[in-house]
Amino acid sequence: MRNILIDLNILLDYYEYDRREKYPESIKAFDFLKNKEFAFISSSSLDNFEFIKYGDISKVRKDLNRKQKLEIVHNFIKEIISFFKIAKTPSYIEIDFNDIEDSQIIASAKAIDALILTRDEKLLQKYPDITISPKKFLKKVEKNETDIDFANLKKQYFLYQSEIEKATDKVLNHGKYIMGPEISELEEKLCEFTGSKNVITCSSGTDALLLAMMALDIKPGDEIITTPFTFIATAETIALLKAKPVFVDIDESTYNIDPKKIEEKITPKTKGIISVSLYGQPSDLDEINKIAKKYNLFHIVDGAQSFGATYKGKTEVHYCDIYTTSFFPAKPLGCYGDGGAVLTNNDELAEKMKMLRVHGQNKRYHYKYIGLGARLDTIQAAILLVKLKYYEKDLKLRQEVAEKYNEKLSGNIVKPTVKPDRTSAWAQYSIRVKKRDKVQEKLKEAGIPIAVHYPMPLHMQECFKYLGYKKGDFPVAEKVSKGIMSLPMNPYLSNEEIEYIVKKVEKFAQ
Ligand SMILES: *Cc1c(COP(=O)(O)O)cnc(C)c1O
Repeated sequence: MRNILIDLNILLDYYEYDRREKYPESIKAFDFLKNKEFAFISSSSLDNFEFIKYGDISKVRKDLNRKQKLEIVHNFIKEIISFFKIAKTPSYIEIDFNDIEDSQIIASAKAIDALILTRDEKLLQKYPDITISPKKFLKKVEKNETDIDFANLKKQYFLYQSEIEKATDKVLNHGKYIMGPEISELEEKLCEFTGSKNVITCSSGTDALLLAMMALDIKPGDEIITTPFTFIATAETIALLKAKPVFVDIDESTYNIDPKKIEEKITPKTKGIISVSLYGQPSDLDEINKIAKKYNLFHIVDGAQSFGATYKGKTEVHYCDIYTTSFFPAKPLGCYGDGGAVLTNNDELAEKMKMLRVHGQNKRYHYKYIGLGARLDTIQAAILLVKLKYYEKDLKLRQEVAEKYNEKLSGNIVKPTVKPDRTSAWAQYSIRVKKRDKVQEKLKEAGIPIAVHYPMPLHMQECFKYLGYKKGDFPVAEKVSKGIMSLPMNPYLSNEEIEYIVKKVEKFAQ
């Protein structure tokens, strides 16, 4: 649902008894919008409301003194701001001297991309694209004209908007845009959240992988074992450091690396294993660690999709040398740009990654290592600090959405399985169907957005031709990539939306 900015005339309709009867549609629309995260008023409406309402009360309640009358008005205002959020008047307001009040409300609406709900004919006629009458609005609500959103990042923004606005304003005002105080505050909070001894934020999930491998001293020609069924960054960063990605097929139930197939790929050149917690579910970490220990290999977990997931009751950082993650907007914990982090219980590796993050610098303008410029922006840290407060709740809601999908979906599809000793962060809810492309097209027509993670395993990508793999080398990954598709997944999917999606998926996947 698009944001709605409620004009002053609607507020007055609601709080004036004779107008209540005259404009029932205003009342209905007001009632519908109460406590909706997309319903706003303009801060500029409040003083006008106070002035007009005080005048009205004065006409009928001659028995009250000024203080008593103001108290009545202020109780109304308290109610209004408990129902609706306040939209700011932005600095780029264009003032029309024929109607300064309208200029304010139009600027407020533009700042949050809202439609103005108003009965003001002049406004409706002059700005048809950004206004809507109560009558038209109610019709839209009845028709339930809402498209299902895949990740619903906009809804999340508007849920926490005023806190995010405050946090980002603070950064813009203090001016410490690089490595400002929010960075270490966030790193401390992330330590608390995961139980990790060290968290070093960085510029992306991709750079997190680079930092981890550089800290572990990867050299050209080293072999690193990983899965072919992952996002390109996992293997790309190995190759970028001139090491060699060595792929191992996946487990058909979890889509993660199959530990039973790792040992046969180990050579004297093998230096480590990167497991990927695909769709949010940790791999078989104990089994992988047993092999790593036996052959003296490092183990990095690429947790770009799994932040907050647990394995045997603890987060994954406790089961590897370095855990990397991403705060890309669409990941379970996302910022509003690029971002990532490396986590480790090893203080030495942490110290080194801290230096590598700033060009290998150990003292100002002294460089111990060849490093990267891989810092997280302060403004992104400020946004993450707000979102982290709600992350535990978000994870729970994602889990609930996944459970509802699991419960309701049946028919000719393969549902995801999460092993009982672990939890998923549910970055994706991915199912397998026959004739995926056809199903995907039909779902799109029904207003259901679908994504495919991932249509082609990495050993078949052009950029890895030089590794010499061929079709058929990893039959499970190849089979899964043909049928896999991700359904909408976000903390805010309603029961009705889930039911609608389930009904359509079952129908088209026949
Ligand atoms: C998203 C992702 C990355 C890369 O993260 P960015 O922040 O986009 O650089 C790496 N690995 C996996 C498995 C991912 O899903």
